Amino acid sequence: MCGIFGMFDCKDAARMNYLGLYALQHRGEESTGIAVTNTKTIKSSRAMGLVCDTFDEKTIRSLKGNTAVGHVRYSTTGSSNLRNTQPFVVHHKMGDIAIAHNGNLTNTYTLRGTMEANGSIFQSTMDSEIIAHLITCSRAKGHKSRVISAIQRLEGAFSLVLLVDGLMVGARDPHGFRPLCLGKLGGSYVLASETCALDLVKAAYVRDIEPGEVVFIGKNKFESVKPMRPAKKAMCIFELIYFSRPDSNIFGTNVYETRKRLGVNMAKESKIDCDLVMPVPDSGVYAAIGYAQESGLPFEMGMIRNHYVGRTFIQPSQNTRDFRVRVKLNPIKDSLKGKRVVVIEDSIVRGTTSKARVKTLREAGAKEIHMCVSCPPIISPCFYGIDFPTKKELIANNRSIEWIRDYIGLDSLHYLSLDGMLDAMELPREDFCTACFTGKYPTKLPAKITKSMLE
Ligand code: SF4
Repeated sequence: MCGIFGMFDCKDAARMNYLGLYALQHRGEESTGIAVTNTKTIKSSRAMGLVCDTFDEKTIRSLKGNTAVGHVRYSTTGSSNLRNTQPFVVHHKMGDIAIAHNGNLTNTYTLRGTMEANGSIFQSTMDSEIIAHLITCSRAKGHKSRVISAIQRLEGAFSLVLLVDGLMVGARDPHGFRPLCLGKLGGSYVLASETCALDLVKAAYVRDIEPGEVVFIGKNKFESVKPMRPAKKAMCIFELIYFSRPDSNIFGTNVYETRKRLGVNMAKESKIDCDLVMPVPDSGVYAAIGYAQESGLPFEMGMIRNHYVGRTFIQPSQNTRDFRVRVKLNPIKDSLKGKRVVVIEDSIVRGTTSKARVKTLREAGAKEIHMCVSCPPIISPCFYGIDFPTKKELIANNRSIEWIRDYIGLDSLHYLSLDGMLDAMELPREDFCTACFTGKYPTKLPAKITKSMLE
């Protein structure tokens, strides 16, 4: 996953990008970058780390220009290091190009193999670098045609924000896997992964970039084209279940309200006789609100999250396996002692974290622990930009719910059904990708596709 942001023709483009990326931090914590342009040259600053750690006043001031694109990264193709940070910037006789990409291409291996066989040299191990090569190698006339011909060759998931020839370009793959929205602030156009970024810069939401649409934004010009072969929509349902911020609207629907509806449907499907309902904070909170409203059970927090646990957290020297879980979430013993609790989780991937949390709740005195998960079992990996582990590591792959219940140490375990999940969406069910729950992928997949395939 990644977050992308772009702002065309505004006074302090780099600063506005900084703010936009701040709002999108949850989409990627590994690295941050901003590329800014005034005319045909592009200047960029990219570093490993969070937005607040990588950009200071001096760096922002050094990025002069009235149009900028930015990126926060969560690696899904290519490891997490400085050469794999974005926006990816190339210098070419046709002019500088900057690329910020969210999603995972599925024809990376073939495209890169062909390019390398023809002498191309790559600087990174990201799929996104291929886009730069496709643009510069295109025989089409003019920048717009080159961008279009490059995008036409991509397969898989991509939401893109580019700088090329003084234009800001936004594009979304024909399936619409990842979100991308368009906003306006005065005369300036804004592109962002989620509407929460528009809110922070006080831009008004205009509309989503449609699946298969490419927009070219220039001085007093806004051009929209649909140059890709139409495809069945396959918007990532996991964005609504877990990934996007609850205060965002994505795919034209509100994330917070959707998660509450998931909780309502869970309560309808799993009638559990208990004393209270509690979320696994923070991501389980919204479904738990819906569950409590529908079931009539009191809503309690049950566990409090420590917001100051960073990635550099040092474990105690005596290695206690669940220490990282305990330092992040601490149970409220007085609320839990002797109680029968329903715990709301947004998803279970490997199951190890859930197991450690349940152990903590038992130690805090909970009498019965029942878990409701606001999506069906995850049985297959994602090839479109969410970093799930391999099929073998997914706990629900080839294992029964009873086996998982026993492993996690629960009194009962309930997953929301596929129908219950899809019914909670305000959009037609056939417009979503649900491949990680069903194993039915909406695109062809190559034999070789792993995060480290280009390493
Ligand atoms: S496989 Fe799952 S996580 Fe990946 S795009 Fe489809 S719904 Fe989203």
